[in-house]
Amino acid sequence: MERQYFDGQIWRPPFEASSVLLQATVGCSHDSCKFCSLYHGTRFRVATTAEIEHDLKIAAEYQPRARRVFLTGANPFVLSYGKLVNIALMIHDRLPEVKNIGGFARITDIAAKTLAEWKDLRRLGYDRIAIGVESGDDATLEYMRKGYKAQDIVEQCLKLQEAGIEYNFTYLNGLAGAGKGQRNALTSAEVFSRLRPFAISVVSLTVFPESDLHAEVAAGTFVESSERERLEELKTLITNLLPDAPVTILANTVSNPVPLVGYLPDDRDRLVAAIQNILDTVGEEELARYRNNIVSL
Ligand code: SF4
Repeated sequence: MERQYFDGQIWRPPFEASSVLLQATVGCSHDSCKFCSLYHGTRFRVATTAEIEHDLKIAAEYQPRARRVFLTGANPFVLSYGKLVNIALMIHDRLPEVKNIGGFARITDIAAKTLAEWKDLRRLGYDRIAIGVESGDDATLEYMRKGYKAQDIVEQCLKLQEAGIEYNFTYLNGLAGAGKGQRNALTSAEVFSRLRPFAISVVSLTVFPESDLHAEVAAGTFVESSERERLEELKTLITNLLPDAPVTILANTVSNPVPLVGYLPDDRDRLVAAIQNILDTVGEEELARYRNNIVSL
């Protein structure tokens, strides 16, 4: 039986579960964020046209009526405009009912293309892309080597909005370290509120041995936020986010000791009350025990 090409670890957002996964890139072109171990040991490369053609043939056999394709790799939008055009044309040729195409993108990938190019890409079906911004706090972004600043997030996401492309964010709760959670939440809420992500996935920082941050934690140069500080941080983020605009909060990955999902602004009070309830009823030790037992995200 023929199989699609998938190299190394494959990640996709939970809500892409029914999308066709198509390997456009392997690993991460940036591969520098201190906290990251997602693509550890996998060298970045671009899938060949022959590989993509081969995979689409298989996808067409199994999901001939697929409506969405999710390009895998940490940042397939690092590919040139021309390459993304070709991939979209190949997808529509093999899977004629596909309406849109997503994938993870870095802010720097968005910056590398013009507004006119993004408008073209939108016409070809690219939409609802996933951006792991992690934070809107410059000091945190710089310390973690994300490779862009808060102002870049604003400029590049406004460009996507103008092109008619929807996007969602990942916020990494606890990323600023002990004692800095409130600053991270308030600054990030201010930055995110200038934009219109349709969803914000909240992942709570879990430091794995393969990451550079792990050595810093061991050396004591980075002190992790307590679980209770993270809950306070999340409460502040939700309280201060996007006062008028609708956004779905998805804090329901394995990294979140208590899963929370809601839709702002309607569910703001319910979410804040749920977090307060955890703070009132669950101790730090129990929450920390949960995190220490996480073996993979
Ligand atoms: S967080 Fe994203 S951009 Fe940073 S190294 Fe990991 S996969 Fe690459």
